[in-house]
Amino acid sequence: MEKNIFEKIRDGEEKAEIVYKDEYITAFNDIDPNAPVHILIIPNKSIVSLNEIQEEDSIYLSNILLGANKIAKQMKIDESGYRLITNCGSDGGQEVPYLHFHLVGGLKLGKMISLSKSEKKRFNELKLLKM
Ligand code: AMP
Repeated sequence: MEKNIFEKIRDGEEKAEIVYKDEYITAFNDIDPNAPVHILIIPNKSIVSLNEIQEEDSIYLSNILLGANKIAKQMKIDESGYRLITNCGSDGGQEVPYLHFHLVGGLKLGKMISLSKSEKKRFNELKLLKM
């Protein structure tokens, strides 16, 4: 099966600005950044998304968090703060089918999920949100 873009970046077959790499993870700048610091952290094992993780993947998952901590310091955003996000599946807005975490910072981030008043009202009417 053909490798996806993140597998190629992980294996050095596609160019990317790698900011950190070790035995368990690879981190590189997002090609279309949404913040002054926007880095993608991937495990060095092909996993489609958070939905597919297994017990045996815990070493990769813990190293993603440890890596985010190191990279935040490396990028000097550890004091101001940052956000670590993973999108999962279609409602989560995942585009690349390879588990990845967005490390974003370097600006004041807004609320994590911002629904308009009318969307909130509509969801509330449908009893989909507890307000
Ligand atoms: P997601 O929507 O969570 O799947 O995020 C995919 C992210 O991958 C997007 O923010 C893209 O800008 C980023 N992306 C796609 N192709 C590349 C690439 N070749 N190098 C770096 N980032 C990429």
